[in-house]
Amino acid sequence: MVQSSILGFPRIGGQRELKKVTESYWQGKVGVNDLLAKGKELRSHNWKLQKEAGVDVIPSNDFSYYDQVLDLSLLFNVIPDRYTKFELAPIDVLFAMGRGLQRKATDSTPAVDVTALEMVKWFDSNYHYVRPTFSHSTEFKLNTEAGLKPVDEYLEAKALGVETRPVIVGPISYLYLGKADKDSLDLDPISLLDKFLPVYKQLLAKLKEAGAKEVQIDEPILVLDLPKEIQAKYAEVYKTLAGSDVPEIVLATYFGDVRPNLSAIKGLPVSGFHFDFARVPEQLDDVVAALGDKQTLSVGIVDGRNIWKTDYSKASAFVAKAIEKVGKDRVVVSTSSSLLHTPVDLQNEKKLDATIKDWFSFATQKLDEVVVLAKYASGEDVSKELAANAQSIKSRKESSITTNPKVQERLATVNESLSTRKVPFAERLPSQQAKYNLPLFPTTTIGSFPQTKDIRINRNKYTKGELTAEQYEEFINKEIETVVRFQEEIGLDVLVHGEPERNDMVQYFGEQLEGYAFTTNGWVQSYGSRYVRPPIVVGDVSRPKAMTVKESVYAQSITKKPMKGMLTGPVTCLRWSFPRDDVSQKVQALQLGLALRDEVQDLEKAGITVIQVDEPAIREGLPLRSGKERSDYLNWAAQSFRVATSGVENDTQIHSHFCYSDLDPNHIKALDADVVSIEFSKKDDANYIQEFSNYPNHIGLGLFDIHSPRIPSKEEFISRIEEILKVYPANKFWVNPDCGLKTRGWEETKASLTNMVDAAKHFRGKY
Ligand code: GLN
Ligand code: ZN
Repeated sequence: MVQSSILGFPRIGGQRELKKVTESYWQGKVGVNDLLAKGKELRSHNWKLQKEAGVDVIPSNDFSYYDQVLDLSLLFNVIPDRYTKFELAPIDVLFAMGRGLQRKATDSTPAVDVTALEMVKWFDSNYHYVRPTFSHSTEFKLNTEAGLKPVDEYLEAKALGVETRPVIVGPISYLYLGKADKDSLDLDPISLLDKFLPVYKQLLAKLKEAGAKEVQIDEPILVLDLPKEIQAKYAEVYKTLAGSDVPEIVLATYFGDVRPNLSAIKGLPVSGFHFDFARVPEQLDDVVAALGDKQTLSVGIVDGRNIWKTDYSKASAFVAKAIEKVGKDRVVVSTSSSLLHTPVDLQNEKKLDATIKDWFSFATQKLDEVVVLAKYASGEDVSKELAANAQSIKSRKESSITTNPKVQERLATVNESLSTRKVPFAERLPSQQAKYNLPLFPTTTIGSFPQTKDIRINRNKYTKGELTAEQYEEFINKEIETVVRFQEEIGLDVLVHGEPERNDMVQYFGEQLEGYAFTTNGWVQSYGSRYVRPPIVVGDVSRPKAMTVKESVYAQSITKKPMKGMLTGPVTCLRWSFPRDDVSQKVQALQLGLALRDEVQDLEKAGITVIQVDEPAIREGLPLRSGKERSDYLNWAAQSFRVATSGVENDTQIHSHFCYSDLDPNHIKALDADVVSIEFSKKDDANYIQEFSNYPNHIGLGLFDIHSPRIPSKEEFISRIEEILKVYPANKFWVNPDCGLKTRGWEETKASLTNMVDAAKHFRGKY
């Protein structure tokens, strides 16, 4: 019998229940018991759903209140001292590490003021994990104060009658994905392996005691270019971990090609391996050759990263090939990765066009897919399912919705001159300086201002038809005016309109572009309680009409200060959408670049001549391994940005913005933006500042963390800027936050920005 499995299920709930309860908890509206009860309810719901769907191997510990990597930091006591001195409850320590905490003293509790740990992209996905942060004083132990999450959740499922396979990030990946804390910058986290392993093994033993037969240990770093020393760790680590006192181990890799590291895992004493064949089917022969006689092969063939229906005929042929090599008993049909990256349930989509909807499969539907494929491979009769699937696949292939000959013709005209500005930066700069006459240390923000409840309520009313277009526009204009007046009041130099009309920086454009479909409930966790609803690229993309001109022009009309137009760049639009899988990402990015080019030119014509084109996802799209795919990506990603931005006059100032990741200044250089702003406030590494010191154009290194409600003082800003100015020339430096302020409240936004602008003024006085 061929078994079915999944590597993880979305934990947010079909109606975003987790977000609602977590945020209520943060606001003090519900207590910790309500929070925990909701978590339990969600887990139970998900396990039952999987059981009812007939999935054989069901994961546990895939749930998290914030992030599964952060959970491990709490569990293994990897908690920097600054979070432990306030005697917070474990769940509050978790949240403090995830998002920072600032709280006034009360009679019974001390004041708290800690920043969040660094948060970075989970491989090439739009999920973010909180970076384990180690120091010389890190003392690994099982932090039972917080319970033992993997064990507790295993038992919880068992009590519901569901036998599960706990999932945990593997020890090597956990350390490798972490970093040294500020006080221990000389520390290489991997050097902690010897101390860490006994504690990790203790956890596995506890799982065994609880009855777990098998654990899924994720070692996703196995798809990266790993240094020899890291490769060499696998043999010794897994030899130490495995044994009769711990559950059987299935070692899972995903998001890429494991072949360059295959020798590192060949012969490990584990019961089986999981590989991502949705992404890299070509690795089948090699990984099979590396398997031991008894080891199982988990065939990740149902895509955990996209929403297209699995083509049963192709997938089952692939599974058959695997079976031919290792036999039925050793094959498990699985999702390529955790389903965390897909929306919960297609059934919740009531407005999608029926034809298009039939092409999609969300997490809940993917459960059926692994089950059907496993049944088919086992020889059961699933002819009905197969026939229906063939019909959907054919309908998509033959649909006219996917093809637009005009777009394809225009795409053929893209060349170097279409993607290069008229003159180089050095020649553009004087005309821009003459036009805007900005002071030294010009201040600006990244675009969005607090998305208040009021904004959401009005947007909802408008969507439901309870407000007319005029009423809604009036409301938006009022919001814009508030934001503009506030910026004038505190003395910001380059203003923004605040993006009140945007539900999301990608979805907003997706909804206005042709070739896109969008969902009403297709939420996917991005980090913590932030979820996004990625639109779906279903066909060739084009722009029927201007998308942002009206709001920007209105904002400019009420101020004399320069108003920055605000667009989301082609790569980010693509990366934060579910892309097509029937044409290349390059083609999709260039099509988006052309659509945005028209928008940039329309803005310019309308008098908006400072234009920011955000590309926060450019790093995330970088192929995980070096080589041709990566260099090709860098070329087409930069080109699509330049296609969008190069059709303007010399004195039009193009800004761009990046966040969430360690960027290579060279990648940014290739975009040739006049000014870039990058997330920076949590980068403690002096080398990182150094790397950017040679960046040729102007740059704003983010000065405060917008993921945290914490307010930095003016002095804090000053010392941060002082640090930066040690390596960075003052005349190139912009003053701005890390990113947009949409997730923040007004109170902290006002205070933080005021302090930031005051700090800029302080420096102007000195130069
Ligand atoms: N302009 C966007 C904003 O301010 C940028 C968001 C982002 O980079 N993630 O919200
Ligand atoms: Zn950003």
